[in-house]
Amino acid sequence: MATTYSFRSGRSLTGGYMPPLDWISAELAELLQRDLLRELPAAFDLQTVMIEGAGQRLINFASNDYLGLAADPRLVAAATEACQTTGVGRGSSPLICGRSTIHAELERRLAEFEHTEAALLFPSGFAANAGVVPALADRGDAIFADAKNHASLIDGCRLSRAETHVYRHNDAAHLAELLAAHASAARRTLIVTDTLFSMDGDVAPLAEIAALARRYDAMLLLDEAHATGVFGDRGRGLAEAAGIEYDGLIRVGTLSKAFGAAGGFVVGPQALIDYLANRARSYVFSTAQPASTAAAALVALHVVADEPQRRTQLLAAAATLRKRLQAAGWRTGDSRSQIIPIAVGPAADAVALSQRLREAGFWVPAIRPPSVPPGESLLRLSLTASHTPEMVDGLLAALGTNHQDAQAQRKHEEF
Ligand SMILES: *Cc1c(COP(=O)(O)O)cnc(C)c1O
Repeated sequence: MATTYSFRSGRSLTGGYMPPLDWISAELAELLQRDLLRELPAAFDLQTVMIEGAGQRLINFASNDYLGLAADPRLVAAATEACQTTGVGRGSSPLICGRSTIHAELERRLAEFEHTEAALLFPSGFAANAGVVPALADRGDAIFADAKNHASLIDGCRLSRAETHVYRHNDAAHLAELLAAHASAARRTLIVTDTLFSMDGDVAPLAEIAALARRYDAMLLLDEAHATGVFGDRGRGLAEAAGIEYDGLIRVGTLSKAFGAAGGFVVGPQALIDYLANRARSYVFSTAQPASTAAAALVALHVVADEPQRRTQLLAAAATLRKRLQAAGWRTGDSRSQIIPIAVGPAADAVALSQRLREAGFWVPAIRPPSVPPGESLLRLSLTASHTPEMVDGLLAALGTNHQDAQAQRKHEEF
């Protein structure tokens, strides 16, 4: 049967594939009908606070390059030099011959930065989570996971074959209930959560979660992907900011966000790292991250240590932006960070608002299911150290006032 689907850009495809692939175009047509069909966006080449592609130049409010390091000349120079001395690809996984002296140095420096015994580099943060969770928990074990955890943690839980108990988002009381009901029957217990949630910009109740981990002798895996480099006195993340110290603590981070490079890492006790190098399949069976990328990350580590004003100014600017958005009638949820959601609701409305901003010169993507629950589509705005006050003013002017919500708010207050 012929199935037609078309993208916003006008590109369309008439299916009519023969079995066994006929179901694919039917699935796409259904996504289109539900306003959930995603087309690959224009290829953006220039990747700084400005992005450029398809003849358009846009101010970028979509990037996770929170400290503005991805195009920093110091990182670029380090990567270029490493590329010349070590080549582009590593040729194999770390255990065979892929681990360079630059990787070894980066692991040493990461452990120092994170104030842990050891660190292990992965090709990406996704690979780290997908490898670490199944290495820590198996059949007979119990995992307790926040409902809004990142997809890579969810996949890690699925791969683990452990019993996974999902607690309501940021609800430590629900976590306590689930632990009371299921922890004692399990061989090992693992609690898993993002520290800073990637869509809502809100923060896990880490002190309460760590107290529960202690009470149940559970391993605690914290994913600091969006928090590393941004939160904490030294930029280690939210566990540092919350003063969490616990023997069972294992932290995952990424070099692809605030560090402006690419690659994931795990930090913790030496024995844990030795074990993961044996048992995390995404470490053992994947080619090592390019040494040029590791060299850039090494420079980023120095910048994070030496230029704390990047993170303090960013968090102050984010707090101001949240207030100004709220004053204009926009709902920013429970955001406490540089990730600021603008709640919209229906997927089609979110796409339309994103399109309107794009026409005004701003790139703020609409986030739709399955990244968020149905009916909770939003614009995800991320602020970085590279945004100037003029850029932020321009965005607020383009957004204007959200009359609908402002009216609803006034009505609410009258009652
Ligand atoms: C981005 C992200 C990851 C994946 O990191 P990559 O290095 O981009 O693969 C993992 N966890 C969370 C919470 C993230 O936001």
